[in-house]
Amino acid sequence: MRIVFFGSPGSGKGTQANELSVGYGLTHISTGEIFRAKVLDGTRIGRRIGDTIAAGSLVDDITANYVLFKAIEGLNRFLVDGYPRNIAQARMFDVHLQNIGTELTCALFLDVPIEVAEERLILRRTQRQDKIENYRRADDAPAVIRHRFEVYRQQTEPLIEYYSDRIVRVNGTGSTTEVTRKIAKALREWE
Ligand code: AMP
Repeated sequence: MRIVFFGSPGSGKGTQANELSVGYGLTHISTGEIFRAKVLDGTRIGRRIGDTIAAGSLVDDITANYVLFKAIEGLNRFLVDGYPRNIAQARMFDVHLQNIGTELTCALFLDVPIEVAEERLILRRTQRQDKIENYRRADDAPAVIRHRFEVYRQQTEPLIEYYSDRIVRVNGTGSTTEVTRKIAKALREWE
């Protein structure tokens, strides 16, 4: 099973990707997590990636593709969370999978109204502030959140159309448990 998982910022895809990868025995690959780890390296590339993330923009496609292709090396069961982020990445991924003799099982889209997603992100920021003094995801600042949604709308949302022949669309509103159940049901029906 090879799944790409996408949704807007605040759609809950990180949480659901964790649930799903455990439930289905899939390796969970989050390009966001890989990039955040690179920032901690303190290398020049890490600093550049850190600036891009903090601005709410996308890391360049060549870096994103390289990182993802390396992460899936030798794996046949994986869930990719946060990649592809645009059509160019999606095309390159299809070509890459074809070259290694495989293809995606489906593209899972977690559908959450923008207002709900925005509210979740604002709440996440407040909770983090309460819990851990001085720590927040740099990309959770209000102006950056707005930019992330803009980038999502312009670059990532068109994936719905790109993957229309293999999309599994799940309504992502409701509690974590409810959404996990909805995803499991949708995947059962797809298989
Ligand atoms: P995420 O944790 O998926 O929200 O990713 C956090 C940040 O990492 C994004 O806002 C981007 O700056 C960067 N990022 C993650 N995945 C990608 C990707 N596939 N392409 C470009 N940038 C990415």
